[in-house]
Amino acid sequence: MPANAPTLASALATPQLHGPTLAAAALLAVLFFGLLGHALRKMRSTDALTAIGWWAAGAVAAGAGLWAVQFSALTGLGLPWSVSFRGWAVAGAGLVAVTGMLLVMASARLSWADTTRQTVQGLGVGVLWALLQAMALASLGDQPVVSGATAVLAWAGLPVALVAAAALAALWIAFSARWAAMGPFELRLWVGAVGFGLVSGLAQALALGGLGFEESARPLGVLLIGEGTLKLACGASALALLLGLFGALIDTRASSRNRQLASSLSEANRRLREQALSDPLTRLPNRLLFEERLEAALERVDAPNAGDAALAVMFIDLDGFKPVNDSFGHAAGDAVLREVGQRLHNLARQTDVVARVGGDEFLLLAERPGGEAGAGQVAQRVLQAVAKPYRLPNGAEVHLSCSIGIVMYPENGPSPKLLANADAAMYAAKRAGGAGFAIFEPSMEHDARAQLELQHELRGAIDRNELVLYYQPKVDGRSGQVTGVEALVRWQHPARGMIAPGVFIPVAERFGLISALGQWVIDEACRQVREWTNQGLRMRVSINLSAHQLRQENLVQRLRQSIQAHDIDPALLTLEIVESVLMEDAAIRAFSGLAQLGVALSIDDFGIGYCNFALLRKLPVTQLKVDRSLFSDIQHSADALAVVDAIVKMAHALGLRVVAEGVETDAQRDMLLALRCDELQGYLYAKPMAADRLTLWAMGEEGLHGPDFRPSIYAAASPTLQ
Ligand code: C2E
Ligand code: CA
Ligand code: CA
Repeated sequence: MPANAPTLASALATPQLHGPTLAAAALLAVLFFGLLGHALRKMRSTDALTAIGWWAAGAVAAGAGLWAVQFSALTGLGLPWSVSFRGWAVAGAGLVAVTGMLLVMASARLSWADTTRQTVQGLGVGVLWALLQAMALASLGDQPVVSGATAVLAWAGLPVALVAAAALAALWIAFSARWAAMGPFELRLWVGAVGFGLVSGLAQALALGGLGFEESARPLGVLLIGEGTLKLACGASALALLLGLFGALIDTRASSRNRQLASSLSEANRRLREQALSDPLTRLPNRLLFEERLEAALERVDAPNAGDAALAVMFIDLDGFKPVNDSFGHAAGDAVLREVGQRLHNLARQTDVVARVGGDEFLLLAERPGGEAGAGQVAQRVLQAVAKPYRLPNGAEVHLSCSIGIVMYPENGPSPKLLANADAAMYAAKRAGGAGFAIFEPSMEHDARAQLELQHELRGAIDRNELVLYYQPKVDGRSGQVTGVEALVRWQHPARGMIAPGVFIPVAERFGLISALGQWVIDEACRQVREWTNQGLRMRVSINLSAHQLRQENLVQRLRQSIQAHDIDPALLTLEIVESVLMEDAAIRAFSGLAQLGVALSIDDFGIGYCNFALLRKLPVTQLKVDRSLFSDIQHSADALAVVDAIVKMAHALGLRVVAEGVETDAQRDMLLALRCDELQGYLYAKPMAADRLTLWAMGEEGLHGPDFRPSIYAAASPTLQ
């Protein structure tokens, strides 16, 4: 091409590498790699059109970029003569570049292991880079001459190895999940791209700098292009690369907005799910989520390599929550439930699950609880936490306890019955008086099932007239006169025979039947009093009220209605109320209303639970009933004697009469009389009996009651349960 080519036959020259040109080539390498990374990522898109579009456009732009990297470097060789290039090699290199990029990018669609794919792509880029450099050098119209061993090394391998390694490392940093912590993909990609550009520039300097050039005397071939034209082509290729990058930039912004949208969508989803799975009051998981977690935990325990993994499920039910709710209002009840939830949450371990699954019911799931002993300790901590006082919004302070049923898995499986078994165990704890825990036993399951059956039958029992009241006399300690009777309910079951109240009253309480049952008892007792009154018998009748009945708002009103309907003297009625009820504010408030009706009040089973004489003084109570468990071994136990003695003295000091209930032997009677108990009740005198029997008993024996009172023949023959 040069018209004024030097006439020298040959001249040897080493290139004076032009720094800015090499730097520009390195910059192009950086941009090339950035585009390549972006296109490779797009190639993984599930959308085929996106992948194909990026494959074609990306390969052209990136191919043009890589081509420009090599050919732009040639424009800065700094040879003493002007250089021309073989047109076919220049164009052929462009074709190779684009084809090579098509192949490298296509590998992104292969389902190889990530590292394999990245390795192949890195090597591919390295090889392509070297191939293009070779073609670039081959395009020189002037014969390049290899001079020196370094040049051989440079020509053959070192730059290729360097560039391939750099490409590999850069791809790895951008795409491997291991590096994800370093920052977002874009950042990692451009860090790698800069590294690649630097290595590419270094490799070019090495390769080109190690060469010696000889000016050819004879220009070779026809299609020769000059340096200026090549520079123009390089500029055009760089432009194509920049256009590709611009596309990538727009694309990144669009997809980042898409990602934002998707993430806010998934956040909204998460909230919805949370709402569906959590209890709005306590923010604890609800039953649905608990069951989900339980399922997952069960799977872990059942897994073949789970070792000795185990879990415990606890059913926690508050005792005495309903009265708090009824008397202080729902806001107070909610506050208490929230506080209970918080306390349970605080004491649970990170891996435990605490859920609220019903009004005042909570569940706790503990993985690897440390056997029954460990589960017991957790239950103890739950009991202590729940027992701490609650401060209500109105400033009042209330105390609660809870009953806990525990199932251990796998011991108390099978898994579908865990919750039912935990419930049965909880109910066993309730039956035992509450404020405690019970670990599941198979008999409890049976009990639970039997109770379910029983409640089903009990529902119809009142209407079918299957309930009856039996009456057990109380006699005056000194005169032996009958002072009254206690009405005790029985269920004449058509198939099972006579069922004791101890069996079906707890069932009625649990399943919400106690109100109807209690009302029937009140009504029937009033009817009987009227009948006895008509017969000329002024018989005092004691009626047992359960704690549940006392919590009912309309108890006083219902009692008044019964008294009026049967037109009886309210003074003939005594209401027996168990001592444990004295803990509840709602019950205590019912006391004064009842007393105003003119009925007498008696504290039943006194001395077994928590006794509070200070409180008794303030209540309109006239009688204490001492349970037989306090004096059954009174002949042998000095402690028992001291307790009964103290109770009697205290009661008398407060003006209360003491009834000893469950007197079975002469010896007991003698001791109790010596301790100055006012009235006695028990099998020694008579067992509970039907009303007509009692009428005969009372009329027939009345005259005989003396200090040496003996059970009558009626009592001995009377139908009994005990
Ligand atoms: P309670 O009120 O403590 O009744 C006394 C229980 O002791 C009665 O059992 C009675 O039959 C029994 N008993 C009486 N003398 C003796 C004796 O010398 N030895 C022994 N071992 N036991 C004696 P019962 O009738 O089975 O009633 C059990 C409990 O059921 C009652 O205990 C009471 O809490 C409840 N109950 C009975 N009737 C009603 C009722 O109408 N309404 C309510 N809410 N509860 C009732
Ligand atoms: Ca009683
Ligand atoms: Ca009693």
